Amino acid sequence: MNPEPYKTILDNLYDGVYMVDRDRRITYWNRGAERISGYARAEVLDKHCADNLLRHIDEAGMQQCKGLCPLARTLRDGEPREDTVYLHHKQGHRVPISVRISPLRDDAGKIFGAVEIFTDITARDTILCELNTLRHQTLRDQLTGLGNRRAAEEEFGRRCHELKRYNIPFGFFFVDVDHFKDVNDIYGHEAGDRALIMIAKTLNGSLRSVDTVCRWGGEEFLVIVPKVDAAKFKTVGERMRRFVESSTLPLPSGEIGLTVSIGGVMADPTDTFDTLVARADAMMYAAKREGRNRCALDCGQKP
Ligand code: GH3
Ligand code: MG
Ligand code: MG
Repeated sequence: MNPEPYKTILDNLYDGVYMVDRDRRITYWNRGAERISGYARAEVLDKHCADNLLRHIDEAGMQQCKGLCPLARTLRDGEPREDTVYLHHKQGHRVPISVRISPLRDDAGKIFGAVEIFTDITARDTILCELNTLRHQTLRDQLTGLGNRRAAEEEFGRRCHELKRYNIPFGFFFVDVDHFKDVNDIYGHEAGDRALIMIAKTLNGSLRSVDTVCRWGGEEFLVIVPKVDAAKFKTVGERMRRFVESSTLPLPSGEIGLTVSIGGVMADPTDTFDTLVARADAMMYAAKREGRNRCALDCGQKP
């Protein structure tokens, strides 16, 4: 069989391909491997792949080439392997690659070497990273840095699943700043923005790490409190109210204080996100009617 056509195909692959003999001595190195690693064929042929060359490290940063690397394992047990590792580029930096290793067998089935095919996944990693950042941005409120409505809805989904599946209760608050329009009217919109940031931080600081506070919009916030009974829920609402009441916003003209009205309901398995928001909102209005700076709760069953 004329091997030339196969060599041409191998050389024109986008992937890197190299072969080793039983001693892990490199016997073949294609152009893709040259491009991805920076090492020319002449520099690596007949060298051991563990000899200060590729020096693959795994996700945890552990050297793979010394000892029993995946290639050596495949040479020993004949099992193909796949992994994500980082190779050492000739210029020193690390390149993330996805590798596939297969044994090479002679006609009698005896292993005489192995082939490693590797793909540069830098772009994939970058795209995944950018996707993560974008996802993060779409769930964030720009002004306060808290989660936004969508983040609240996602958190609701997770807690609702726990409630329905494992009967783990959760509470839900709607928080509205009292007479907030006055802050804008008297001190200006920028002072209003700073007040919202201050309240966002205060609410967040009054909660446990498992609780979630999100900005619903304007001067309104949602708080999701997992794994609480009615008594504990009441304490959480009261604590948020007191924390805001005892915080101040320093302005050039002096400090100002703000208060919030809070409506709280325990979630019911039949609630959707919209019904839960509507029920908590209705309780918040009850708190407004009762004179503001208070917490009105409905911990009973949904009618
Ligand atoms: P109440 O006690 O009844 O809740 O009175 P309120 O003044 O807080 O309620 P109202 O709904 O009348 O006013 C809310 C104000 O919040 C009006 C709006 O201009 C202001 N606002 C909404 N979003 C922002 C924002 O992002 N920044 C600033 N500075 N103001 C905002
Ligand atoms: Mg409002
Ligand atoms: Mg308000």
